[in-house]
Parts: sequence; structure tokens; C-alpha cells
Amino acid sequence: MSGKIRGGLRARKQAICRKAQRRHCSFYERCAHWSFDRSESASPIHWHRERWVLAGTALIATLLSGFIMPAWATAMKPAPTVEPHTLLPLPLPKLSPIRQAAPKVDDWQVVRVQPGQTLSDIFSSHGLSLTDLQRVMDAAGSAKSALHSIHPGQEFDFLIGKDGSLRGFRFDKDQADRAIVRLDGPQPTMTLQARVMDVREEVAHGVIRSNLYAAGAAAGLNAAMVGKLANLFKYDIDFVQDLRPGDSFTVIYDATYRDGVRRGEGDIVAAEFVNQGTRYTAYRFKKADGDYGWFSEDGRPIQKSFLRIPVDFTRISSPFSMDRLDPITGRRQEHSGVDYAAPMGTPIHAAGDGVIKFRGWERGYGNFVVIQHNKDISTAYGHMSRFAKGERVGEHVKQGEVIGYVGMTGWATGPHLHYEFRVDGVARNPQTVTLPKPQPLPAAQLAKFKATVVKPELARLEQIDQRIKLARNDTPADHTDN
Ligand SMILES: [Zn+2]
Repeated sequence: MSGKIRGGLRARKQAICRKAQRRHCSFYERCAHWSFDRSESASPIHWHRERWVLAGTALIATLLSGFIMPAWATAMKPAPTVEPHTLLPLPLPKLSPIRQAAPKVDDWQVVRVQPGQTLSDIFSSHGLSLTDLQRVMDAAGSAKSALHSIHPGQEFDFLIGKDGSLRGFRFDKDQADRAIVRLDGPQPTMTLQARVMDVREEVAHGVIRSNLYAAGAAAGLNAAMVGKLANLFKYDIDFVQDLRPGDSFTVIYDATYRDGVRRGEGDIVAAEFVNQGTRYTAYRFKKADGDYGWFSEDGRPIQKSFLRIPVDFTRISSPFSMDRLDPITGRRQEHSGVDYAAPMGTPIHAAGDGVIKFRGWERGYGNFVVIQHNKDISTAYGHMSRFAKGERVGEHVKQGEVIGYVGMTGWATGPHLHYEFRVDGVARNPQTVTLPKPQPLPAAQLAKFKATVVKPELARLEQIDQRIKLARNDTPADHTDN
């Protein structure tokens, strides 16, 4: 991509961003009471006023163009009843039904089908006759069947000459092809064109005020994208306990477009999360095996070798301790693991990739599983109500795989998971033990990752942050003007 195009894109993105902020100003106002940080709460009032100014300007412009300067009106596009793209909140003045002047050659009008509309309705609303529709049908040939059933939301493109005659008509034949009917040549023609799917990158930035989902929504992200963001950083950030007001994120992600129409979001390309002053980053990279993975700046997988906590627990019912009063035996002895209280039947996940070394009954532990992860590290899980199906001794398990369910078998006074982390056979505190860092990419891959992913994406993230800082510095100045 050339610098110029990129610059243009950036400008458009900024414009979209501004528009979104304006559109969501009522959201900001509504949710202002959620905010912990009230220092910026004056800005919605400012937006509100600006909206009135905009509306006023639009009204004046509309009146001028409609009544005082009819020449403008003829230059303007008509407002066909089915035209869905009009954004003005005010009713447009009625235009004379006289055909407006000279759409340039190939000035296609896009029309979206409204509920209950037929193709002939759409044709007649464009001043076209059933004969025109018949000519299109005749010329459409093999693509004709696509015109027999139309549905709301579908789009048709019209090319209408300055004399009001139909010169061309475009529609989707199917998922793969678009049919283009031309009626302006010596003979009507129909050509098929492959429909264009493209991926464009979009950017969002948010600041946490109440919770991650609210911040995501304010930044224009849907819940699925917020989920993807949380998934990337869940190994480093506990989104329930660690999040603080003022934490922020910047995310660059793919959006898919078909024939220029946005269809949805794809994967995260790069993301940054600042949590309590610590900055975490994740970059997408196509690995040697062809799969995508997400890596931190130093080329280590975002996914850590071990989950810190292998169960969705409600509370820690007993911490790791060298000296505790055992509730069953009544004796003082060490507690070689952590007890996570959780409802009976809660799934227990393998903390890391490994091989099942033990699965069965063990005195005190009840239903017990031990996973060997490498030559030094093993993890152990006790008091299970039952084991997961198919997990046999000697079999490989993946991190996160369900190995059993919370219970209170063995010496237990309530349902909980007793979890041990053993290094060379010695129990260590799973809450504080230094977990081994995952292996970075191999040297050649690492070099490629740094050059082709980190360098450009990091520059973009920094550029976005810089722009946000500048925008933030601008805001107070605006207020003093008012
Ligand atoms: Zn225990």
C-alpha cells in the first residue's frame, strides 16, 4: 500500500471514529454515572451543543438548496423512496419529479430492498416501466433466476441515463458472482464478475471506567471482539480482579467486506493492554505450520505453559501452607496445595500440556489425577467427583482440556479442588511459583516475526496512542472556549 492511500485510509478512519463518538455521545452521557473518573464528564455537554449546531447548519443548507437555489437541487441526487443511505435527520424538501440533471456516466445508484417491496415496485419508484424490467429479465439469461425471489436488504444498482432511460442494472447472481446487465450498447449484454471479498484493518481504543465490556462498547467493539481481546490477555491479566479504572487498550483487527459492504469482524492483528501501568502486547503471526498464533513482542506465545488456576472457583478455601490445622485429622501439618472451593461438578482443566501419569483412588486425595508436563514439572488434582471420559494413564492432554469434575471424595469436608504444583517431586505454592516462560519462536521465525509483524504494527499502535494523547490534550482547551 502506498503512503498516500494509507494516509487517506487513516483520515477516513479518524473521520469514522469521530462520527462514532458523536453518535455515541448519548451513550457516554447515560453511562457517565458508571465512570470512576469524572474529569472528562463535561465533554458530552459539549458534543450535545455541537449536534444542534450541526443540525442547524444542515437545515439551512437544506433550505438553501431546496428553495433558494433550485440549481443546486438539480445537481443533488434525488431522494428515491427506497434510498436507505440518507443520514440527514431532517425531512428533505420535495423535489420536483422532473428528471434531475446528468448523472455522470456509470453513476450507479444503489437501492436496498425494503420489506414488502417487489422488483417492479423498485423499478417504478425509479421512474422505470415494466418494459424496462422485462428487458433486464430478457438480457439476464442464466442469472435471471436470481431475480425471481428477492429479499429485504438485498441491493440492486441502477444506471439511469440523463434522459431517464435505463442503461444498466447490477445484482448478485449468487455468493460468488455479480451479474451486470448493460442496455446502452447496440445489443443488451450480461456479464458475470467475481464478487470481491476483502479484508480491511480497523482500529479501536478504549479506557476502562466500569468494566471491559462497557469500555469495548464505547470504543465501538462488539461483545465477540471484546471476548477475543480478553482471551489474548487472560494469561497475564485477571479481568475480574486486576482491572482498574484508567486501564486502556488499543486493538487493530480485521474487518471483512464484500463488494465494499462491511460484513463483520475477523481476528485481532495486534493489540495492546495497559493494566495498572504495565503494558502487554499481542501480535498475530503465521507460524511455519501455516496456523496463526499470537505472540508477545519478544516472540513468545501469549498462551502460557500453565494456567495459574485450573478451575472456575468461588473462593480459596485453604491456601498452600507449611503448617496448618488439618480439618479432618485435627493435626498440624503442611498443606501441599491450594484448595479451590467450587460447586460440585465444576469442570477441572489440565493446567498445561502433558501426559496423564496417575488416574485413580489415592488415600486422602479420593479420585486423583497427576499430569506430568516435562521431566521436572507435574500437577495433581484431588477430591474429584468423577473423571472425564477417555482420559487414561499414558495419554496426552492439552492445556485446558477437562480431566475431571469437582467433588469431595477422600478427606474433604466440602466440594473443592485440591491442586498441587510439583517441581522435581516437591510441592510448590501454585499461587506464587514462577511459571516457566513458554519457548520463543525458533530463530529464523523470530527474525521474520520481528521484521514483518512487530516493527510495523508496533509503529501503528504507538501512532494511535500518540494521536489519542494529542486529542486528550486538545479537549480541555475546547472547554475553556465555551
Ligand atoms: Zn487441599
